[in-house]
Amino acid sequence: LRRADVAMYSAKRLRTGRELYDPGRDSHSTDHLALVGALGDALRTGELDVEFQPKADAFNRTVVGVEALTRWRSPVHGTIPPDVFVPLAEHAGLARALTRYVLARALAQARAWSDAGHDLTVAVNLTASDLQDVALPEEIESALVVADARPESLILEITESAVLRDPERIGNVLARIGESGVGLSLDDFGTGYSSLTHLKMLPVGEVKIDRSFVAHVKTDPADAAIVGATIKLAHSLGMRVVAEGVEDEETWRRLADFGCEMIQGFVLAPALPAAKLEDLLPEPVHEAC
Ligand code: C2E
Ligand code: CA
Ligand code: CA
Repeated sequence: LRRADVAMYSAKRLRTGRELYDPGRDSHSTDHLALVGALGDALRTGELDVEFQPKADAFNRTVVGVEALTRWRSPVHGTIPPDVFVPLAEHAGLARALTRYVLARALAQARAWSDAGHDLTVAVNLTASDLQDVALPEEIESALVVADARPESLILEITESAVLRDPERIGNVLARIGESGVGLSLDDFGTGYSSLTHLKMLPVGEVKIDRSFVAHVKTDPADAAIVGATIKLAHSLGMRVVAEGVEDEETWRRLADFGCEMIQGFVLAPALPAAKLEDLLPEPVHEAC
């Protein structure tokens, strides 16, 4: 059973769906336990940093939103990437605590930016297990109340593979969230299995085209065709499109030519601490008294 557990952990971390037990990876299991303990402590002590990557209007280049991306720089274990600690949190039953932590920080920041006259949406990534939690809509509502933030300022990013775990139950949870005014965005779009079906059924207002397609828009005509068709499809369903992982101006230009509304990627900036992100924001708008 312990070996099956190690294999399951690898399958989750590598997102392959299934893995055979590999003794080579077993050496991680003691590290793994230590890391789970450290992650629990980090969530209690506030050791995780929530940073923000800008999303810009593809046509006028204004930063209109941010995505919260969490960073764990452990004094003991070094820098641990989210691709490692997010699956770890899910595996160890800490996903809910992680999401609550990120949500609280992201919403407090959204409120601070709003007070300073910046009109921005803040996106938070949900884990697959969050979506199976029927208490999630209430939890989001109370996080909005605590931060005194507007539901419209929050976007929750979900993935299709997470929805596929239990489409009916998750559909209900998402519908309740959608009704509250909080936005929903379908992340990593194009990497799932039955994309078209889900686009139609889910109450999402935005799709994010996965970096694996965006990266080759300039060089691979097949990827360019997929991206162009995806943008058209999303528009015909009334959704806006964000291209993620945009690394250069030429790719940006091509995406804008396809009608993609928003750009996110290193071409603009990586995830930054809130204070640094402010350098990229337009002049604040102060409402007249
Ligand atoms: P994601 O949601 O798809 O986030 C985008 C990832 O792509 C981020 O990696 C970001 O730093 C990276 N990225 C952005 N622009 C570019 C670019 O132009 N080029 C390249 N090569 N990469 C770019 P990061 O921060 O390492 O996060 C990895 C994944 O971990 C995220 O993928 C998300 O699924 C998850 N994650 C991160 N923070 C959180 C969190 O607070 N909660 C949850 N549940 N998941 C999180
Ligand atoms: Ca995301
Ligand atoms: Ca993504």
